[in-house]
Amino acid sequence: MTAQYLLKDVRPLGGEPTDVLVAGGLVAAIGPEAGDAAENAPDDLEVIDATGMVLLPGLVDLHTHLREPGREDAETIASGTRAAAAGGFTAVHAMANTTPTQDTAGVVEQVWRLGAQAGWTDVHPVGAVSVGLAGEHLAELGAMADSAARVRVFSDDGKCVHDPVLMRRALEYVKAFDGVVAQHAQEPRLTEGAQMHEGVVSAEIGLAGWPAVAEEAIIARDVLLAEHVGSRLHVCHLSTAGSVEIVRWAKSRGIDVTAEVTPHHLVLTDEEARGYDPVFKVNPPLRTQADVDAVREGLADGTIDIVATDHAPHTREDKDCEWAAAAFGMTGLETALSVVQQTMVDTGRMTWADVARVLSTNPARIGRVEGHGRPIAVGEPANLVLVDPEQRRVVEPERQATASANSPLRGRELPGRVVATFLRGRATVLDGVPQDDPADPRFAAGRVTP
Ligand SMILES: [Zn+2]
Repeated sequence: MTAQYLLKDVRPLGGEPTDVLVAGGLVAAIGPEAGDAAENAPDDLEVIDATGMVLLPGLVDLHTHLREPGREDAETIASGTRAAAAGGFTAVHAMANTTPTQDTAGVVEQVWRLGAQAGWTDVHPVGAVSVGLAGEHLAELGAMADSAARVRVFSDDGKCVHDPVLMRRALEYVKAFDGVVAQHAQEPRLTEGAQMHEGVVSAEIGLAGWPAVAEEAIIARDVLLAEHVGSRLHVCHLSTAGSVEIVRWAKSRGIDVTAEVTPHHLVLTDEEARGYDPVFKVNPPLRTQADVDAVREGLADGTIDIVATDHAPHTREDKDCEWAAAAFGMTGLETALSVVQQTMVDTGRMTWADVARVLSTNPARIGRVEGHGRPIAVGEPANLVLVDPEQRRVVEPERQATASANSPLRGRELPGRVVATFLRGRATVLDGVPQDDPADPRFAAGRVTP
């Protein structure tokens, strides 16, 4: 098995072409020294002609649903992290709405162990805020933080922590271990029975509306609570222009808030619902073009810190039915980088260095993930993704690595292709193909062995 890679004429962060040597799990050399060093170890060296390709730090997803334990028919930790590697990710945060819920040290350690065994990416379990996501009693936040999984992100995602007293307690509690509460902002009473964004389209096609104010009211409350208790708040999948305004105001006040936007909220609008195809049913819902424009602007100017996939795989039974009966959610791990390229880079709103910031550096910082989101520099862990921005491909969900096919981008042509992903110097993906035996123990050095 190849253990060293020489990336010839690659553009780190989209900059000037150079050579990068990946060896010993590290970025071992950059520039002319990379070629020189490579000559000393020719036997196990693979040279990759990376002309025109961009090298980024491995992507970090703060918001992934891996479905295991409980819904292995939709996704497993192995299939989901294989999909993540195919999409250029080297670390993912696994959301807590599993069965059983990730609300104890035992369950988060199980998820963490299965992730390490699969070997495709690092897996950081998110801990539930409340027992069973029921919104009543605080879960064992401290025990999860102290567990082998070292949980730092806590969320009831899928549900909103709507009780302000419970939210306040969670914000206070996580301060002890530098954690963060990631809120799914959805006022429950304002969204009872909601099926899609409340607006012109919902009125015309007769589906119950999910008003923007139901998201914005919770974000406004939570930034004030975070300020009041001096804690860290993260806003999941922000989707409305008003939410961007509230986060912008909170940051201008010095409140310690970060926010994410999903790829689908960067590219799709509520107009998609007109065909009643439940593949476009998601929570929070697809919004209007004005909202899409606002979240793009917010991402470009730094109001929104990160792009997170909210990858939500579902079986055919849960998705191929009438709209009202279908589950909320869509897949995204294998198309996220292409959507960001299409909407933000190819339109001139962001550089590749900005992409590294919103898809790697910032999510690693928010999640307190070590060894990821690092600069591309000699001596750093080789958690990297090699991207060819010139290639284009048509999305074919059945050919993706995820076990589910509910991609809203089916049949669309997207720019960019992940050519290779490196996890601590080991190629999890080469020539765009996930590699066999990712858990080869020879490359486990540096991985926390469970
Ligand atoms: Zn959510």
